[in-house]
Amino acid sequence: MMENNIVVIGAGVSGLTTALLLAKDPWNKVTVVAKHMPGDYDIEYTSPWAGADYHPFAKAGTPEATYEHETWQHLANLAENVPEAGIHFQKSHTYIRNKDLEIESSKKFGDSASSSPWWKDTVPDFRILSPDELPKGIDGGTEFTSVCINTTLYLPYLVGQCRKHGVVVKRQIISHVREASGHHHTFNKADVVINCTGLMASKLGGVNDQSVIPARGQIVVVRNDPNMQAACSGTDNGNDELCYYMCRASGGGTVIGGSYQLGNWESQPDPNLALRIMKRAVELNPALVDGKGVEGLSIIRHAVGLRPYRAQGVRLEKEKIKGVGWVVHNYGHAGYGYQASYGCSQAVVKLVDGIIESKARL
Ligand code: FAD
Repeated sequence: MMENNIVVIGAGVSGLTTALLLAKDPWNKVTVVAKHMPGDYDIEYTSPWAGADYHPFAKAGTPEATYEHETWQHLANLAENVPEAGIHFQKSHTYIRNKDLEIESSKKFGDSASSSPWWKDTVPDFRILSPDELPKGIDGGTEFTSVCINTTLYLPYLVGQCRKHGVVVKRQIISHVREASGHHHTFNKADVVINCTGLMASKLGGVNDQSVIPARGQIVVVRNDPNMQAACSGTDNGNDELCYYMCRASGGGTVIGGSYQLGNWESQPDPNLALRIMKRAVELNPALVDGKGVEGLSIIRHAVGLRPYRAQGVRLEKEKIKGVGWVVHNYGHAGYGYQASYGCSQAVVKLVDGIIESKARL
């Protein structure tokens, strides 16, 4: 058997998870090249800014729903058995306001608005909340056990796991996808290049996918601990604003969101939006601040991340590009990059195995 030289572009959750799963096959020799690495905070690098929790929004029967379903067990296993991954279980409430259900933007809440979503048997402890458990202004809701990922711990954990499996990680800016095949650590040309460039797939030469646009997410990270997570179907402040909070594992703080502003590249937090985000969270859960209002929040930082949104969903397919050879794309995960990470990466491994097999038959 021959060794397979693989270059992965990108060290976000998609690139690192893909590299790790590929490297579990000892015949695969994997190099990760990326402009940004865990530890960096940059507006072109989405993964560090995420909450991140597991709360499927995909429609039933779509590939994204399959990827999310397949990912749960991996994240649950990390939460249960691998403390150094920085993931913990957390009770999660989904709150529905009837007035949101007809609004187009709340459709991105997907099946979550239903009392019987497709994922109710994927996660543990799913149940419908009784009226006396609902906050003021909420018409219905559900509860399940989710996970919350401390991304500042989890991304370095993934790098460590990659290194343990022989992956070589290099800092490199790639202008055109064809350059990537020359960056394998053995100095041989890569047999396959994996494109995990997220939002920046829109600017990568040879790809230039203009259908990937930012879905701007502004957040406030606070020290207050609600000991649970929650998301509401809508807000009274416009269709591109959200209301949710989640508490990261191991001192990662509570992330309060948010917004979902399509096409907006602004990297700096908007102070007025920040105030609305905080007000909505303390109104939804006054216990977050012991009834003290917004002043009761102990702020760690205000922040903005850009989700790599693609109207047609994640691009997960192989493409033969002139001067490169086979490229497998895995980008455009919008707000579900963590909760679909293992499902998507497994799909990449299948595509790569198919390419290698067909090469071997030639
Ligand atoms: P990125 O993390 O952006 O990584 C891209 C990588 O490619 C980087 O290393 C970059 O440097 C590299 N790269 C790009 N172009 C080049 C180039 N030309 N040359 C070299 N390297 C290049 N998801 C969830 O599942 N659950 C959540 O609760 C959740 N909450 C979120 C909250 C917010 C506020 C935000 C902003 C996002 C949230 N997400 C959540 C979404 C999630 O963060 C993204 O889907 C995910 O991080 C995308 O990861 P990625 O690896 O595809 O892209």
